[in-house]
Formats: sequence, C-alpha cells, structure tokens
Amino acid sequence: MPQLIAANWKMFGKLADIRAYATDILTASGHAELLICPPFPLLEPFAQALAGTPVALGAQDCHAAASGAHTGDVSATMLADCGATHVILGHSERRQHHGERDADVAAKVSAAMAAKLIPIVCVGESEAERDAGQAIQMVRDQLLHSLPAGFSGILAYEPIWAIGTGRTPSPSDVVAMHAAIRSALVEQLGGAAAGLRILYGGSVKPGNAASLLRLPEVGGALVGGASLVAADLLAIAECAPRV
Ligand code: PEP
Repeated sequence: MPQLIAANWKMFGKLADIRAYATDILTASGHAELLICPPFPLLEPFAQALAGTPVALGAQDCHAAASGAHTGDVSATMLADCGATHVILGHSERRQHHGERDADVAAKVSAAMAAKLIPIVCVGESEAERDAGQAIQMVRDQLLHSLPAGFSGILAYEPIWAIGTGRTPSPSDVVAMHAAIRSALVEQLGGAAAGLRILYGGSVKPGNAASLLRLPEVGGALVGGASLVAADLLAIAECAPRV
C-alpha cells in the first residue's frame, strides 16, 4: 500500500490560498497518497479545486451526533456532504484545549464510520509520560478506549511533545511505538488490524521525512506546520518509499 501523507492545516489558511496550493500539490509524482485537511469553511472550495484528482479531502473534527442543537459544531454527515472522505479525531489539541476524553473520541469515531468517513485517530504521550517510561502503556490505554468495536480507519501516533516543537522521537522510539500500536490493534481487532495504516506525526519536515518514512510500520505522516507550504508537503511526499 502506498504511504499516506496527510496535511493538517489546523486553524490556518484562507480562500485565496486554495487555488495555488491545489495547483502545486497536483504536481506530486503520485507514489504517496495525499490528503488535505483544511478548516471547515475551506472544505467545500477545496473539494471543488480537487474534484477529479487523486488528492483526498478531510476535516479536523466532527460532533458525535448526526444533527441537533449543538451550536458551533459540525456533524460527520455534513463533512461527507461537503466532499470530505476522512476526518482527524482525537488530536491532542482537541484533547488538551477542548477536554476531549477517550470516550468522546470513540463516539466521534463511530459517527464518522456511520457517515462512511475514514477516521484518523490520534494518540500520543506527553513529555512527562515519556520521561516516566509510561509512553507505550499510555498509548495502549488511549487506543483501548478511543476505538469503538469494529473500528476501521487510520491511526496517527503523535507524541504531544513533538507537535510544533521541531523535536522528534528517535527512530528506535518510533519503531517501538508503532510496533506496540500494531500489537494493541491486533489484540483489539484481530485480523482486521493487519491492513490498518499507522501514521507518524510531530514536526515532520522535508529534512527529516525520509528518516521517519522509511521506518517499519510507518504508513505515512500527519503533517501540521510544514503542510501549509505546498512545496514542503510535496518534498515530504517525495520521501515516501515507492511501492
Ligand atoms: C499535528 O498537529 O498534527 C502536527 C503533526 O503538527 P506539526 O507537524 O506542526 O508538528
């Protein structure tokens, strides 16, 4: 399976950026799959700019309910209606700044799957948890409680201390964590775990992408800051191993 390079634009970007960005990323050689996850207001215009291309479109969150009196929220069905095929869920910024717990993430994942979206579920430890030697146990616990029964989708290992800091875990720590995630997925999901992609996220840049993307069990990258510059996203995608 080709690797997936997913762009998390977070709360950046504006309408005027879309056309040039889409034109640039469509020059990718195509050996990695590309997914762009802009803020909600840019989903539909991005869907138009990317229509008929192999680049996929995703959102960064959804509500667990299909509809209702939830001012300011957006449902998974609305995202699908705008042309999204994927949704990032359980990002550490949502967990930290919006108090999302594992159970909330699991409910959103169920809603996404019901709307036929592919959830990208983020897990990752804090620096204190890593320093205390608890990183793997912590991520295993997050997985156990953030994935509903019958889960199908993508995982993203994003150590919180690596997000936006320019720091990354050592290759051996990434390998150990991705292997631990795979074995936890097998315990939870049985044979269905075999084909699930596990992305790495946290300060992926053109300069370090090759060393991260060549590691065993790394199925691609979730890229924040560097994804805002099309040339940087392309340079990262070009580091994905050819299959
Ligand atoms: C992210 O927020 O998902 C992320 C990986 O950010 P950055 O690449 O900026 O560390």
